[in-house]
Amino acid sequence: MSEIPVFWVLLYLLAALMATALLAKHPRAPVEEPKLIQCPDCQMTISRRALMCPHCGLQLNHLEVSEENAA
Ligand SMILES: [Zn+2]
Repeated sequence: MSEIPVFWVLLYLLAALMATALLAKHPRAPVEEPKLIQCPDCQMTISRRALMCPHCGLQLNHLEVSEENAA
């Protein structure tokens, strides 16, 4: 008798969960940012514009050759 209300409650909870996940994901998602790359040496996530890896000190000048913002 109460199957349909339960269904809507579950649907509401699912929507709320997805909204929460989206809101929580937006402010802190530094992993999949397009301006970030993986250091080829230590595999840490670093800025694409970094001249050297802050984790292992690898020189990254050569990785920025194909940038449009050379100036
Ligand atoms: Zn590194």
